[in-house]
Amino acid sequence: MCNPFLPPLPVSLDDRTTLNAEQITNLLEVCLRTTYFVFNKEYYEQQNGAAMGSPVSLIVANLFMEHFEETALDTRFRLWKRYVDDIFCIIKSEFLDESLIFLNSLFPSIQLTSEVETNGSLPFLDVLVSRFDDGTMKTSVHRKSTHTDRYISYQSNHAPHVKKGIVKCLVRRTYNLSSESSLKNEIDHVRSVSSINGYPRSIVDKVKHELKKKKKQVDTTTLNKDPVATAIIPYVSTVSERIRKILWDYGIRTSFKTKTTLSNLLTKIKDPTSNENKVGAVYKIMCECGDFYIGESGRALGIRIKEHKSACEQGYFTKSPLAEHVWQEGSHVIHWNQVKLLDFSQGMVERKVKETIYNMSPNNLTMNRDSGMELSPLVLRAARGHSHK
Ligand SMILES: [Zn+2]
Repeated sequence: MCNPFLPPLPVSLDDRTTLNAEQITNLLEVCLRTTYFVFNKEYYEQQNGAAMGSPVSLIVANLFMEHFEETALDTRFRLWKRYVDDIFCIIKSEFLDESLIFLNSLFPSIQLTSEVETNGSLPFLDVLVSRFDDGTMKTSVHRKSTHTDRYISYQSNHAPHVKKGIVKCLVRRTYNLSSESSLKNEIDHVRSVSSINGYPRSIVDKVKHELKKKKKQVDTTTLNKDPVATAIIPYVSTVSERIRKILWDYGIRTSFKTKTTLSNLLTKIKDPTSNENKVGAVYKIMCECGDFYIGESGRALGIRIKEHKSACEQGYFTKSPLAEHVWQEGSHVIHWNQVKLLDFSQGMVERKVKETIYNMSPNNLTMNRDSGMELSPLVLRAARGHSHK
């Protein structure tokens, strides 16, 4: 029977796909059983649970928890609200211990712990729920005791809209999560936090005003036009904002990325892939005479280099321009151990463009036979500005 605590599904499987339940289960099985990862150059297979970061994990986790709830829930639970694995629940205190033992006996992999209210307050996600003796409740923003109220400093090299976005997010969250009675305190808190982080005094009121205005606009008119494309460019103070404005006139949305951050300087979560295994490389192979060959490959770099090598040994000119060079020049020595990785990209077109640009050697030392892709004069002019490594 369907659990009365759960809402009914809006449409049936047949409405959504031509695959049947068994096929979907089989495909899901493949996704869930083929997770592996590399640590200290050893390969590991995941035995239990769903892979972190996989798009299917959240869905499977939710499916499982729904199954769990169908088995577990009964009338002892006055209210049961769950977000992924966080549950907010109202239960009479005399039922608490036995219910927890019961819930934890259902599946060995699901072991819940409980946290009870202190002074009538209990946090759930980022909301602090408080109840009063007269039966009323209020909500406010919950901050962990370890929260430092530290955000990107106003002096930091970030686009102004990013910094404003932080204040916007704080103000919006305050309005979304606070009851009427806690609103004033919460806004005061946002004010003091933004001033601690160096933001101008007026910013909170400005943002409040903008959010109100925007809400009116959304209510009365249709949403902004959809962008035709998105451009991702590095953030360089003032220049990038100008580019963003120009692009928006053509319907292109711009997103900025900050290349060097402390986080990517200091953290290396995965084992680095050795150059040999790098896929999508633009590479440079040098000859002893100073001539060089620049190529790109969608496969592992090590395999492509081996192919060049064997073409050189056997004299297959069609397979590698390096072979032609070596044989015509009378056994020049190629520096196979010093192959340089110039760049890499998963996209073929991007690689071809990069290969062409790197190949624009001023002294004509490249062995490449064709001039590569046809690039716009603008790109060529920009590329000539910086000669290759
Ligand atoms: Zn040579």
